[in-house]
Amino acid sequence: MRDHFEIRDHDAAGRIGRLEVPRAGVTVETPALLPVVNPNVLTIEPRRLAEEFGAEMLITNSYIIRSTDRIRDRVLEEGLHDFLGFDGAIMTDSGSFQLAEYGDIDVTTEEIIEFQRRIGSDVATPVDVPTPPDVDRERAERELETTKRALADAEAAETGGMLVNAPVQGSTFPDLREEAGRHASATDLDVFPVGAMVPLLNAYRYAEVVEAVRAAKRGLAPDAPVHLFGAGHPMMLALAVAAGCDLFDSAAYALMARDGRYLTVAGTEHLAEMEYFPCSCPVCAEHTPAELREMDGSGTSEKSAEQLLAEHNLHVTFEELRRVKAAIRSGTLLDLVDRRARGHPAMLDGYRALLDHADELERTDPVSKDAFFYTSHESAKRPEVRRHHERLARLAVPDRLLLTESNAPSTHDYGAVWRVKPPFGPFPRALSETYPLTAEVPERVDESAQTAAAEGVASLAAANPETAITLGHDDWADAALERVPDGVETENLRSLGR
Ligand SMILES: [Zn+2]
Repeated sequence: MRDHFEIRDHDAAGRIGRLEVPRAGVTVETPALLPVVNPNVLTIEPRRLAEEFGAEMLITNSYIIRSTDRIRDRVLEEGLHDFLGFDGAIMTDSGSFQLAEYGDIDVTTEEIIEFQRRIGSDVATPVDVPTPPDVDRERAERELETTKRALADAEAAETGGMLVNAPVQGSTFPDLREEAGRHASATDLDVFPVGAMVPLLNAYRYAEVVEAVRAAKRGLAPDAPVHLFGAGHPMMLALAVAAGCDLFDSAAYALMARDGRYLTVAGTEHLAEMEYFPCSCPVCAEHTPAELREMDGSGTSEKSAEQLLAEHNLHVTFEELRRVKAAIRSGTLLDLVDRRARGHPAMLDGYRALLDHADELERTDPVSKDAFFYTSHESAKRPEVRRHHERLARLAVPDRLLLTESNAPSTHDYGAVWRVKPPFGPFPRALSETYPLTAEVPERVDESAQTAAAEGVASLAAANPETAITLGHDDWADAALERVPDGVETENLRSLGR
C-alpha cells in the first residue's frame, strides 16, 4: 500500500484519488492537470493558474533552470515556489525530454535530483531514457536497462521529503512496458509516469497510447498513481482517465496558442478559420475570433491574442477535467468516452482499444451505478456486458427454459421464462431492476447488441449443457443468430406475430 495515494471512487479503470505531496504540505485531488510552466516564459502567471483555473499542481523543468545562468542562482536563492509565485505542489522534470530531443545532456540522475531538492521541488524526476515508438527491440531493451539504473540512483539519493517519479518506458513493446511497470512498482519511488508518449499523442495514435498505458498498468500495483507524461489535450482526457491515468501535464495550451490553435473537446481548430467561439469561458464570452485576429501585432492591448488563446485552451481543459471527475462519481465515464470518441476516428480507435481490455476494466468497475446507456456499437463491448455473461454461468436453471424478448405473459410448459435484453442477453425476471439490466436501450436495436445478447445465450447454454433452451428473438440479424449454439431452439417472435 502506497500511503501517499488514496483512491476514493472508481469507474472503468478511472479513479478519483488524493495524492499527498508532503514537501508542499498539500493534498492534490486526481485526476489532476499540471500546467507546464516554462521558467523563461510565463504565458500565464502561476498565481493565476491556481486562482483562476484551479490548478493545484504544476510542472516545470529543472534542467532548463539549471542550465540558464540568468535564473539559476535566483531560483536557488529564492526557492522554486517564491520564484514562480505558486503555493501548490510543483513537479520538476529532469532533462530527459531534452535527452530524447538532442541525444545528450550534461547531468546525471544523482546531480539533477540533488539540484531539484535544493531548489525546493516537491516531486522530482530522474534522468530516464524516453525511448520513442517503433524502435527495434534491442534498442528498447538496452535503454530500459539505463532507465532502471536511473531509478536505482534516484532511490539511493537524498530526497529531503520530495516524492520521486519512476518513469515507465518500453517504447511500443507492451511486454517491455509491463516489465518496466513491475520493476518501477517494486522500487520505493512514488509516482509512475508512462513516458515517451508525445510522439504517439502528436500523431493521434490513441489506440497505441491506450495499449502502452494498459501494459504499464498490468505491471504496476493497482494503487500506484500514474502520470501520462505529455498528455493534456482536452479531447483525450476522458479516454486516458478511463484507461487508468491519474496525472496529466499540459504544454499544449501554450504551444498550440503560439500557432493560433484553439482547443476543444472534439479536436483542434484554427483561429484563422473560426467565425464563432463555441465556448463560454471568460475569453470566449468577451471576444469574437475576428477580434482576436485583429489584436495580432497591434501591441496596444494588455494581453496578446496568444495569451488569450492560451487562457481559453486552459479553461476548456480544466472544464473537461471537472466533467471527467463528475462522470466518475456518477458512473458514466464510459458514456463520456463514447461521446468523445465521435470527435475523431483516432479517438474511436482509442476507445475500441480500451474495450479490448474490458476484462481488466471489469475488475475495478463498480457493480452498481447510474443507468447504463446504450449509445453506440461500442456499448456492446463494455465491461458490464462481459460481467453479466460471466454471471450467467452461476445462475440456477430448470430442465426446460424459455428465453424471450417478448413481454407478453403466456401459458407455457417451461420450467421458467427469462427475459432477453440486448446487449446483455438472458436473465431471470427477478434481476430486471438491478444494474446493469436497467439499461436504457434504443427501440431500434442494432446488430452489435443482438450479437452480444446471442453471446450471453451461448454462455448460459455452455454452463448448462443438460438444459433444453428455447430462444424467442425479435427478428435478430443472421450474424447474431450465428452466435446462438446449435442446441438452442430459436423462434422469430416477429414472424410468429408476437
Ligand atoms: Zn473559451
